[in-house]
Amino acid sequence: MSADASNAPVVYVALLRDLVNSFELDIAFLRHTDFENRTTVLIAEWPPRTNVAHPDPLHTVPFDGADPIFAAAESLDSVLTVCVDGGIADYRTRVESASGFVPQSLVAVPLIAGAATVEVLGFGKLAGRDWTEDEFNALRAIAALTTQVHTRVAAEERFRYSATHDEQTGLVNRGALLDYLRGRLADHTSGPVAILFLDLGRFEALSNFLGHLAGDEYIAAAARALTRDVGATALIARLGGDEFVLVLHGPSNAHHAHLTARTALDAIRLLDVPGLDRSRRATVGISIAHPGRVAADEALQRADQAALIAKVNGDNDVVQFTDSVQRQSELRSDIEIHLRTAIRNDSLVLYFQPEIDLITKRITAVEALVRWQHPHRGLLPPAAFIPVAEATNLAGELGSWVLEQSLRTLGEWATSLPDLDISMRVNVSPAQLVGAGFVDEVEKVLRRHSIEGSSLWLEITEVAVVRDIEHTRRTLAGLRRLGVRIAIDDFGTGFSSLSHLKALPVDALKIDRAFVADLGFAGGDLAIVDSVIGLAASFGLDVIAEGVETLDAANTLIDRGCTRAQGYLMSRPVSAVDALALLRVGTIDI
Ligand code: C2E
Ligand code: CA
Ligand code: CA
Repeated sequence: MSADASNAPVVYVALLRDLVNSFELDIAFLRHTDFENRTTVLIAEWPPRTNVAHPDPLHTVPFDGADPIFAAAESLDSVLTVCVDGGIADYRTRVESASGFVPQSLVAVPLIAGAATVEVLGFGKLAGRDWTEDEFNALRAIAALTTQVHTRVAAEERFRYSATHDEQTGLVNRGALLDYLRGRLADHTSGPVAILFLDLGRFEALSNFLGHLAGDEYIAAAARALTRDVGATALIARLGGDEFVLVLHGPSNAHHAHLTARTALDAIRLLDVPGLDRSRRATVGISIAHPGRVAADEALQRADQAALIAKVNGDNDVVQFTDSVQRQSELRSDIEIHLRTAIRNDSLVLYFQPEIDLITKRITAVEALVRWQHPHRGLLPPAAFIPVAEATNLAGELGSWVLEQSLRTLGEWATSLPDLDISMRVNVSPAQLVGAGFVDEVEKVLRRHSIEGSSLWLEITEVAVVRDIEHTRRTLAGLRRLGVRIAIDDFGTGFSSLSHLKALPVDALKIDRAFVADLGFAGGDLAIVDSVIGLAASFGLDVIAEGVETLDAANTLIDRGCTRAQGYLMSRPVSAVDALALLRVGTIDI
């Protein structure tokens, strides 16, 4: 009979039955060694017992504290014959209570794989029996054959496990998830089926920051927390990276899905990851799929698209797939397709937003902010395409375009206004900063437009800084040699980078507009703004506030000692022509 994982139990019973018949025995059994729990487990027997007690005293027997016969099974390395007499009381009691009789004569043959006793084949005879050497030889041969079956079955089970499970977390993998979803979404199955796509967010930056081992530990901890809190409600799969998928058991509606999404997000939020603070933002995309109407991969993709929109929009952690999500996803793919051409045929435009000294009202700098004049979709804000550029390796090309155009524009302004004394602030993507030859590129562009390095500020985010700290340090040092200065943008939203501030040649911090926005209102983010200003002072850095929309906010900033500011109160970002007009005046009254 050919044996594999699926029919192994049947094969074992058939084997035991044949052995009982041909050796004229009363019973035969096969026991398996569970090394992890140090127990021996009954996996087949002949003849089958009736009226077996629950729990069956013969089923799982721990080696520790077992009678000498069961204990011997742990490291049996040759055939053992036992004449069961009154001396082995524990053994007799256990066997008698489970089967109603005790064999007088017992033979145990080990099945050895590698150096371990993986199984034990046992035979018993009610009355005493003498065994011949030929019989022993036959039993050894049978044991060797059974070992082969065992090894094959175990390998098959391991293979099946690793083909359907994620190695790192032990959760179901993508293939097994899709199989499961195909079952749940088959025609005439009861539904709907709620699928939740969970993205941990900033995982890449995190593992670069904390090291890959810590990143792996974070994923494992997330998997454990999800299993603990939603494991009873949903099947949990890991797709790789920081992506998990939950499929709610049984028919579920959007309400169930949202509740589970909240529970899952709470489980993630409560994870204690040293060094990681408010920047951690997990998102969930929900898709409610109706059996017979949508294919498994399509349903999963919808949840993925919704999660992506949640991530890009930034104002909601949980987004359910709708027609509007569909349209936004289409826009994203459209952008992906057309962005490269847009960069090359100059469909991008730069807007410029002045920054002023709140005391003198003089314009001290302008920030170059990119937009895309899209042929059918109008003027697109950077949020609509910068994330796409970063996800598709276009960030470098886009960044080069911005650097070139912004410095050329500054050169043109300087020609019109010979006394112009302002800096150009240019945003830099993480990908540009880590790209080879960035310093050379900046040097060439400066020279091409006859601009001093000291007239250029580059704004980088904390995420960029932590990606590869040593490389970043070298790049920033190279830029400093050119006289170019560096500001950390959106300060306060990222990783706690105090140690980086000390290690890196940085010149200024820009207080994120989220903190500036509610300045002037009672209880606002004054504490954060104060601490950024204090931090800048103690490191000898400049500090600039962005997003100043009200006079109250401006006055609060002046009170706190921050006098450089940018925001709608002074001016929105404007075209190069309008910016030149502002620069001609030179000051902006507020
Ligand atoms: P950011 O560097 O923090 O730029 C400031 C953003 O705040 C700009 O949005 C600006 O229009 C907006 N803003 C300025 N003052 C106010 C205000 O008073 N209130 C409010 N609510 N908003 C204000 P924008 O132009 O949409 O740019 C968004 C982000 O896109 C930028 O944030 C920057 O991270 C990125 N970005 C823009 N241009 C570029 C670029 O050329 N390269 C790269 N890598 N990123 C860019
Ligand atoms: Ca900026
Ligand atoms: Ca900013």
